[in-house]
Amino acid sequence: MKKMIALILALVMALSLVACGGNNNTEDDTKDYASMSLEELKAELTTVTEGKLTMSTNATFPPYEMLADDGSFEGIDVEVAGAIAEKLGLELQIDDMSFDAALLAVQGDSPKADIVMAGVTVTEDRQLVMNFSDSYATGIQVVIVKEGSDIKSIDDLEGKKIGTQMGTTGYIYCSDTPENGGYGEENVIAYDSGITAVQALVNGQVDCVVIDNEPAQAYVKANAGLSILDTEFTNEDYAIGMNKGNACLLAAVNAAMAELKADGTFQKIVDKYIPAE
Ligand code: GLN
Repeated sequence: MKKMIALILALVMALSLVACGGNNNTEDDTKDYASMSLEELKAELTTVTEGKLTMSTNATFPPYEMLADDGSFEGIDVEVAGAIAEKLGLELQIDDMSFDAALLAVQGDSPKADIVMAGVTVTEDRQLVMNFSDSYATGIQVVIVKEGSDIKSIDDLEGKKIGTQMGTTGYIYCSDTPENGGYGEENVIAYDSGITAVQALVNGQVDCVVIDNEPAQAYVKANAGLSILDTEFTNEDYAIGMNKGNACLLAAVNAAMAELKADGTFQKIVDKYIPAE
């Protein structure tokens, strides 16, 4: 009998060892990471590439992420991610890709990125496949039209050709069925980036573009003859997306962000890119 108990104990121990060390994202589920200090979290933190904080993004989303004239990345998300990486003692590595690929990069058993920062809206569906940090900004979906368009409010969108960016909430809402408040998939075109969607509007291939307000402002500024409707499409929260299996990273990012908010760094970055009116 004693032998049997010893055997079972050995088995249980072996199994729990496998559970802890199986892959670098598997952690002790019972740990209360949220109550640990940043220093404690740093000691336990694992990332996709050791010593680095890898961020996936789509750098066509001003003022959150875009390419500077010299080809480097800039924007609110870029600088906030840099400040978070510094707090975590990691080097920030930015991987630029399409928006839907950026979301996928943090998901699954072998994620390619630690965090996705791309003005990502928190949605229930996305919460099923990734962890979200505390929200750090609000976004608004707006409608861009050509000046003189017969679209005067969102009530006029029915039957129009709507341009959106692939994989975004703008696409998700608009392509939904009319019963669910959308305009039907057949009326919505998904472009690779916000910029190509706006180009399609300029060229007359779509009647309007539904996209987040901040990039919309930048696109309208850069293209004569466009304007943004006064009526908002919807309000949403932006947060940092992370792998479901890395609870330590989630807590560490939240702790780092809380410090950046408390010491004013976060607001300073936002003010640099979105000057108060
Ligand atoms: N906020 C939108 C979303 O999360 C769009 C983000 C983007 O285009 N980068 O779907």
